[in-house]
Amino acid sequence: MSVLAINGGEKVRTKLFPAYRVIGQEEQQAVARVLESGILSKYLGCWADDFYGGPQVQAMEREWAEYYGVKHAISVNSATSALYCAAGAVGLAPGDEVIVSPYTMCASATAPLIYNAVPVFADIEYDYYCLDADDIERKITDKTKAVIVVDILGQPYNVARINEIAKKHGLYIIEDNAQAPLAAFNGQYAGTFGDIGIFSLNYHKHIHCGEGGILVTNDDGLAERMRLIRNHAEAVVENKGVTNLNNMIGFNFRMTEIEAAITREQLKKLRWLVEERRRNVRYLEENLADIPFLTMPGIREGCEHSYYIHAMKYDEYMTGVPREKFVAAMQAELAPIELREGEGVKIGLGYLKPLYAQPLFRQKTAYGNTGYPFSQSVSYDEGICPVCEKICNSETIFHELMRPFMSREDLDDVLGAFHKVADNLDELRR
Ligand SMILES: *Cc1c(COP(=O)(O)O)cnc(C)c1O
Repeated sequence: MSVLAINGGEKVRTKLFPAYRVIGQEEQQAVARVLESGILSKYLGCWADDFYGGPQVQAMEREWAEYYGVKHAISVNSATSALYCAAGAVGLAPGDEVIVSPYTMCASATAPLIYNAVPVFADIEYDYYCLDADDIERKITDKTKAVIVVDILGQPYNVARINEIAKKHGLYIIEDNAQAPLAAFNGQYAGTFGDIGIFSLNYHKHIHCGEGGILVTNDDGLAERMRLIRNHAEAVVENKGVTNLNNMIGFNFRMTEIEAAITREQLKKLRWLVEERRRNVRYLEENLADIPFLTMPGIREGCEHSYYIHAMKYDEYMTGVPREKFVAAMQAELAPIELREGEGVKIGLGYLKPLYAQPLFRQKTAYGNTGYPFSQSVSYDEGICPVCEKICNSETIFHELMRPFMSREDLDDVLGAFHKVADNLDELRR
């Protein structure tokens, strides 16, 4: 008789896992104060005092900059907008090339296209999933202007090597740190290693305000250009006396006072939330150590991980069971997370395709139908990033069942499911 739930046996867990409820009374009261004030956004899209936003926006930016030990923090309405601001601020121009990762959320690779620059994919590291320094070097041409590194899954990129390469070739580094707040390298926070760092405040990230993004930089000039792009630059440059008009067509990327007020409270909770993830991961890893076909995430020397995702590697040859089947069996044993029921059980296969496999790149169709701004000499064919393809096609398992608010009993159910499936692999081989 079968015991595995996928074959009709009893599930380890039917009760939903606890919601990731980070919004509490503090945020509710902060929002109530904003609503009472009647000022939901104070921005003006012209050169005036209110060009830089209202009291909540400005206070939050000061607090964020202080927290991360940077000179400037600039809020926007998403990390996607933040990437667009950064791409504009560094002066990307048509024909420029920007080295990007194929293993990330799409905006970290599409941002250059907004300024008609060409994304060039470099491969990732097998152990850490971040951009591979050697492949970046191979992909640099005389058109390369910047690298968008991603602190993917919660771990900093190879700061030491890649910053040196960028310096040698005169490239900007834009650091997409949407997934790794409070991750660190040699004691310094991720997000502060590039010329510009980017944070996300969307609902799925460590802390959130609904939708939001933050840019950080120590460069006064870049900071001012990003503030201009955020808020209708073209309408401001004349009165402000800005003479460099390069990429000074602005957007409306402004965050409201409500989200800024929420973010101020969220920032106070960030450290605890990251430390909880680390504690939960430690407990899971200690108790999964006896399963030989699972390998826990590699951590780069000198780095601290902040576990946006807890990614494992699964050895299909050792089990004789395809990864897809193993994951399906795990999903069958467990329940979704409350408030995210529609997403199913939060254990999966991770990013399934390199970004260059998306139709945008494969068909080289962005603006109109002429192939603009893509380049003949830049390929998006299968095979350009073999490590990424291998990781997408096999081995990797993502799960999010290590988030704060998971109790010991909740984590024990996760462990119970892993052990139950591991002990009954025969049922999956049949
Ligand atoms: C979430 C995410 C983004 C985009 O964030 P939004 O705030 O949703 O625009 C960008 N890059 C990475 C790596 C992300 O995980």
